[in-house]
Amino acid sequence: ERQKYFHQEKMAAIGALAAGVAHEIGNPIAAISGIAQDMRERREAGLGFCAEDYCKDCRPDLIQAQAQRLAAITREIQEFASPQPAEPQLLDLNAQLRSTTSLIRYDKRLRGVELRLDLDHNLPAIDGVADQLTQVIMNLLINAMDALESVKDRPPTVVISTRQEGDRVCMAVADNGSGMEKDVLERVFEAFFTTKPAGKGTGLGLSLCYSIMKNHGGSIEIESTPGVGTQVKAYFPLNET
Ligand code: ADP
Repeated sequence: ERQKYFHQEKMAAIGALAAGVAHEIGNPIAAISGIAQDMRERREAGLGFCAEDYCKDCRPDLIQAQAQRLAAITREIQEFASPQPAEPQLLDLNAQLRSTTSLIRYDKRLRGVELRLDLDHNLPAIDGVADQLTQVIMNLLINAMDALESVKDRPPTVVISTRQEGDRVCMAVADNGSGMEKDVLERVFEAFFTTKPAGKGTGLGLSLCYSIMKNHGGSIEIESTPGVGTQVKAYFPLNET
């Protein structure tokens, strides 16, 4: 039964992403279509495509720039959707963070939010299941975005950082959103515990993160101050080989 709920939550996250991506590819398509129409009108009026004045904002260049944007988005989706091994492998956590965030940037809940990566470039590789780590990162980001929704008095910011801390690798997701009262913080890892309205939260995000981190031989910790923000730290053991 639990599997089914996890699946639904993942599908909801993918749905939100799909909506954002659709929006993002709509703009270049509209631009290309407009340029094509303009070119057709010039042809029908007996005008060339390469008159002197025309080359100031040359149509082929504009089309190519828009097509390149579309190609970049397509590449990101392909990378995100490519089948990942279910077995742990040696992973570059920084690369994993870059690819997951490059796609979630299109989520409309992130509009107006500053999403910053502060990555340790000497970070040791970890043993991890890529798909599961993507889910941890997505769930933490979704929670941060939800917590930032009500913030009006400061620029909403999410900082994702990586560090080696002693014999562990730490990935932290910090937001300056609503924060949590103690009674909420004490229950966040409970399955089905949510403060979000029905349809928005399932209460499974953090309990899923908890079990994924446990599967990785790691742990997860949360610090939060009401009205100030929240920091979630996920710890991985160092790779032994
Ligand atoms: P869901 O997001 O579906 O509610 P989670 O298990 O991910 O389920 O989170 C449980 C609860 O923890 C949320 O409903 C929210 O009240 C609180 N929470 C989680 N992350 C944050 C955060 N970054 N800022 C504020 N509250 C949070």
